[in-house]
Amino acid sequence: MRLRRTHSLFLFLGVTAVALPAARYAAQAPQTVLGYSDFSAESKIEEKFLAVPDAKEAGEELKELTLAPHLAATPEDHITAEYVARKFRAAGLDTQIVPYRVLLNWPKVVRVEAYDAAGHLLMSGPTREHVQGDPGQDDPRVVMPFNGSSGSGDVTGEVVYANYGRPEDFKELEAQHIDLHGKIVICRYGQNFRGVKVYLAEQHGASGILIYSDPQDDGYYKGDPWPIGPWRPETGVQRGSVQYLFKYPGDPETPGVASTLDLPDSARTSPSGDQPHIISIPISYHDAAPILQALKGAGVPAGWQGALPFRYHIGPGGVRVHLVSQQDYERRIIWDVIGKVEGSEDPASWVVVGNHRDAWVYGAADPSSGTAAMLEAVHGVGALLKEGWRPKRTILFCSWDAEEEGLIGSTEWVEQQGRTLDHAVAYFNVDVAVSGPNFSASAVPSLKEFIRGVAKSVPSPLGGTVFEQWSAKGNQDNEHRLSNAPQIEGETVHVGDLGSGSDFTPFLQHAGVPSTDIESNGSYGVYHSTFDDFAWFTQNADPHFLYLQEMARILGLEAVRMADADVLPYDYPAYAREITAYIDAAKRKAADDGLSSLDFGPAQAAAARLTEAARHAFSVENSRPGDVARLNLSLREVETDLLSEAGLPNRPWYKHTIYAPGEYTGYSAVVIPGVNEAIDAKNAPQAAQQLALLREAIDRAARDLNSAQ
Ligand SMILES: [Zn+2]
Repeated sequence: MRLRRTHSLFLFLGVTAVALPAARYAAQAPQTVLGYSDFSAESKIEEKFLAVPDAKEAGEELKELTLAPHLAATPEDHITAEYVARKFRAAGLDTQIVPYRVLLNWPKVVRVEAYDAAGHLLMSGPTREHVQGDPGQDDPRVVMPFNGSSGSGDVTGEVVYANYGRPEDFKELEAQHIDLHGKIVICRYGQNFRGVKVYLAEQHGASGILIYSDPQDDGYYKGDPWPIGPWRPETGVQRGSVQYLFKYPGDPETPGVASTLDLPDSARTSPSGDQPHIISIPISYHDAAPILQALKGAGVPAGWQGALPFRYHIGPGGVRVHLVSQQDYERRIIWDVIGKVEGSEDPASWVVVGNHRDAWVYGAADPSSGTAAMLEAVHGVGALLKEGWRPKRTILFCSWDAEEEGLIGSTEWVEQQGRTLDHAVAYFNVDVAVSGPNFSASAVPSLKEFIRGVAKSVPSPLGGTVFEQWSAKGNQDNEHRLSNAPQIEGETVHVGDLGSGSDFTPFLQHAGVPSTDIESNGSYGVYHSTFDDFAWFTQNADPHFLYLQEMARILGLEAVRMADADVLPYDYPAYAREITAYIDAAKRKAADDGLSSLDFGPAQAAAARLTEAARHAFSVENSRPGDVARLNLSLREVETDLLSEAGLPNRPWYKHTIYAPGEYTGYSAVVIPGVNEAIDAKNAPQAAQQLALLREAIDRAARDLNSAQ
């Protein structure tokens, strides 16, 4: 049985928002919009677009997408690819299913057994995910909990608890003289990307790692667990990739190369560059509790105690675990779906919209809410096409596959396009579109004001505009949106920086395409478990699909507004301001870390030149420029200018000098990563070399901005 709560408030708002006449939006249409010399004609197009995305249809699409578990490369995944392709074609998009052949592991055997000091069995698992009344949990196609990219093997060892498995947690264990060689680390989810936990455990000599969901972080400590509320139940497990995606994402055997079906095996390399070498198994707190409770050794330091009802200890002692992991690694076929609307004036310039489609299990919030939102955005664009509208630039809608295993479908596609993407003017990503009512966004600085502007043009189910609700709630950043960037003064509402954990990574950080990422988040305790299903979604996240409709409008409006702009609406003064702040903050950090001899002068001077050039370009953008096509080429070139051909030290696939996922955070962004990570490593010669590369990149960007006329 499924518990239901009443949602009268939402129902009332729902009727209001759905029944609004299209005229409502005209009143909200901004008078001036960057990139448009006269917005009145475009405003009518946007008004028509906004009237189309439909809450009820989004709900039906979500239901269809979540009918069966659809792990990448399974027959059910292919069915969703065909469904999305049919929807694209019905809207009038020129649509192709694009396959790749990539290395993926599926679990054959995953086993965890724990014994106390006397050799008595404490637990044997993993326990099957189960709650009273969940409709999808017993489907035989639900894949057993496992980690993508886990090693195979059979190991037994003493256990050590490592809190969140962050660098500072491993440092604490070192300070306590706990040797991890041959041990099995148990740590909890949260605070960083799970691949980083495995990376650090491996570096410290552990032979295996268990990663569990502590009720403090997304379980009963937060609120009622599913099926009463939205939080993680006792047996819920977070699956997930532990690929070292901060080295490179995509197919492990083809970094920098597209794994097309005809790519010969001889052109594939050893996958060891981004793969862990130890066993990694995700478990529930039901299975973790007997292990943690039996663990002896020192009591935990402040901040390490979770919400299980006993005192935690670090170990080792008191418990040994036996882990078995047999992973079936095969080259498997995955399917991206690409739908194209050819531009009427500048077809070589692409606006790319993307969302992944594959899920660990049913994936209602992650990612089907994003797919439903994208399908309703496509529905709106299709309605415009039927009235004879054509965007000035080409719009591509992309449904990526195998994102969960390591951003594979998007990365292979980006690698296949190569320099063609120098003319992609934007990549607009959505992954989990909806897990609740709180809108948030990340973007490159040049598009932060653009996304705020789009949010000002879309109504919120709560009343007013998305922008008004967003500002009223303040900063709703989740861990994917954090970065080490200093606070920027005078922002109306905070837009985060792009780290990793979703498909914008290859676009921005490998190919230099200006990108955004949007989400409407809330209480989401079933992430990557079988319980992220349609029943959970309609009870907890968005009962009337009004936020799916909202996100469809935001995503579609991003595409339409960018595709039709006269002048590309990049705000480079904002980019210059942020780069200047990043350099100043790195200089202070270098001084604090005893690297005060590092010369930041040339980079600071370059940032000052960039600020001047950005001011000049911005005034040209806002006036009536002479040669618009030439101006747009210069403006677009700036993001590519910020790439460095050599890439980052030890991870050359990452080419952006301003943004990368942190090597020790994974999801959250490290700004000016080459410089900051060299400072963190107290490596002065490397920091100096990275500062020089940064200065060159900034000077290239300033030159292109200065050429604006
Ligand atoms: Zn996702």
